[in-house]
Amino acid sequence: MTTGRFAPSPTSDLHLGNLRTAVLAWLLARDDAGAFLLRIEDLDQQRVAAAPQVAQRQLTDLAALGIDWDGEVVRQSQRLDLYRDAAAGLETYECYCTRREIAEASQAPHGSYRPYPGTCAHLTRSERAARRAVRPAAIRVRAHGAAMTVHDLHAGEVSGEVDDFVLFRADGTPAYNLAVVVDDGLQGVTQVCRGADLLDSAPRQAWLARELGFVPPSYAHVGLAVNRVGERLAKRDGAVTLSELESSGLSGRQVFETICRSAGLPAAGSAPELLDAVRGRDWWTIEAIWRPWVVDARAIIDRR
Ligand code: GLU
Repeated sequence: MTTGRFAPSPTSDLHLGNLRTAVLAWLLARDDAGAFLLRIEDLDQQRVAAAPQVAQRQLTDLAALGIDWDGEVVRQSQRLDLYRDAAAGLETYECYCTRREIAEASQAPHGSYRPYPGTCAHLTRSERAARRAVRPAAIRVRAHGAAMTVHDLHAGEVSGEVDDFVLFRADGTPAYNLAVVVDDGLQGVTQVCRGADLLDSAPRQAWLARELGFVPPSYAHVGLAVNRVGERLAKRDGAVTLSELESSGLSGRQVFETICRSAGLPAAGSAPELLDAVRGRDWWTIEAIWRPWVVDARAIIDRR
């Protein structure tokens, strides 16, 4: 049986793309009579503190679409010890590099993920002491140039090299890649459905899961919502959250129908209605689920 999950970061309200990912994650899990978990990824306390009510609004919006979840909502900020305990057995080293230094030492094009070039991998004790006096260290895992292959429902077998990625930031906060793997592992998540921007991270995360003794999940990376010029949908693109669309005169039902259409699915008014209409589909054959969705908020509002 599948255990799926949705794991928003509570830094801003969910926009249409996030809501669509949540609907699809819920659908894939429930279609298999599986469990569905919600996790608030609130490790970045500075950004969370700047928007204190966001997590609650995210839960309210999901519930308004008919998405239900099993058990308590988990908050990463309350699980710091679990991440530290899980990482205790890993081979790690201190890293003193700034982002700029990593960018300069790496060949990756601007904007894409830059595999760590290993600058701090083999420092001597005295070199470490000298650098530590200047700046606090982040902690990286020593991956020994590993490679890993994952299975994605649409992309199929996806292989990637595993660099020495960060486990703890210089301020001691567990990094996303560590927390997400520990939580998915401890919560028994078997299927990770999320935005396609995270496909590149899947081999790294699955490798870490295996190192920590978990069975890596299967993946389903769905199309991102983008604006008319192909950039990731953002607040500045206008009325793209549920409450903004509702203030423009759309009902929750109409917003849900828009999400259904965007994914090539029959228009339904809520998540349970949609599930009844599409149960047992071969999800990977529905192209629109996996393609980027070009959102034109004006057109959505005008169509009501
Ligand atoms: N918290 C991440 C985000 O909102 C999602 C991480 C994941 O689904 O693995 O982008």
